[in-house]
Amino acid sequence: MAVPKVGFVSLGCPKALVDSERILTQLGAEGYLTAPDYAGADLVIVNTCGFIDAAVEESLAAIGEALAENGKVVVTGCLGVRKDLIKGVHPSVLAITGPHDTPGVMQAVHEHLPRPHDPYVDLIPDIGIKLTPRHYAYLKISEGCNHRCTFCIIPSMRGDLVSRPIGEVMQEAENLVRAGVKELLVISQDTSAYGVDVRYRTGFHGGKPIKTNFQQLCKSLGDLGVWVRLHYVYPYPSVDDVIPLMAEGRILPYLDIPFQHASPRILKLMKRPAAAEKVLARIHAWRKACPDITIRSTFIAGFPGETEAEFDELLTFLKEAQLDRVGCFAYSPVEGAKANELPGAVSEEVREERRRRFMELQAGISAKKLKSKMGRTLKVLVDEPGIGRSSADAPEIDGVVRFKGGKVGEFTDVVIERSDQHDLFGRVA
Ligand code: SF4
Repeated sequence: MAVPKVGFVSLGCPKALVDSERILTQLGAEGYLTAPDYAGADLVIVNTCGFIDAAVEESLAAIGEALAENGKVVVTGCLGVRKDLIKGVHPSVLAITGPHDTPGVMQAVHEHLPRPHDPYVDLIPDIGIKLTPRHYAYLKISEGCNHRCTFCIIPSMRGDLVSRPIGEVMQEAENLVRAGVKELLVISQDTSAYGVDVRYRTGFHGGKPIKTNFQQLCKSLGDLGVWVRLHYVYPYPSVDDVIPLMAEGRILPYLDIPFQHASPRILKLMKRPAAAEKVLARIHAWRKACPDITIRSTFIAGFPGETEAEFDELLTFLKEAQLDRVGCFAYSPVEGAKANELPGAVSEEVREERRRRFMELQAGISAKKLKSKMGRTLKVLVDEPGIGRSSADAPEIDGVVRFKGGKVGEFTDVVIERSDQHDLFGRVA
């Protein structure tokens, strides 16, 4: 009997990507094969995103394409919580599950594509199946979020914070390192809140007790001897505890910390975590303790009620904060987000115009920051021949270092000779 083949479409953020990896790992463990195209698949799984309206449309289109090309489609992921919407547009999908629901997806697969008789269970590596290149991997430490930012519907899709046991996280990290991973990208919805839900309980790793908290996790990951990069960190006081680990070179001096705004009134309307923290003073202190730190952040322009003066406050913050990497979105009224009910909606034209002004200002700052690296020798991890990333560059979202040569998946030193707004250019040292 032919081995059943499953096609897979993975949309959305790194958290969704990790869900995809888990489903693919389980499919592989049960003996299913993956098909590279619709025609060769007996069934297709579409892992959707529902973060903003554009993502919803993209997900619905992907489901439509899979139905047209293959016909047997199981839907999972963030958009899966909006079953009625999916069923309304695509009534013929076989099953719909929400995010991080591998068992639900497997149940649907078993129902519509019976398990193979002779699974090659042992052919699955103990790191599972990864969708990233072999030399870096995302490490998901928790699911869900305890906050209720008014522009975000993630908690309604993914639920409250559930931290993974620290022993399990460390075991996965060790397996990845053993399998050749050189960079671990720590992800979650709220990385600095790790362990809050379990009251920082003591877990075990390698026979030793270890607390389930952000600092201990960073310290233990730092002992593995690979690059460790932190994403989705909020400016809680606990962040100060990991800056020394960055200064000592145990984890990368890199913080992906979404500030979203600088006006206290807007931050309050957004219900942002750690909104009351003195962010500028903290940034200065972090830089003092770790001068090489790269700070990446994201912001929203044109949030409901944002006045011109409040937007100016944001621009002033940007000038003072001198952040290295910045993304800015014009406010997007995601269906179901509380912020849409706030008075003073900003017109689409003004939202877009503010986003443009914001990015223009930041472009100069980013370019200046990159220029300051001229003449320095940077250690880069080679992603493709001639393209690598330094400690300042996360995959997919930041710039790269371009040079001639380099071996994929290895570290190399590059002397920086030139820069533009996004990337650095140099030669192998
Ligand atoms: S912290 Fe806010 S923006 Fe981030 S997932 Fe939680 S509710 Fe959404």
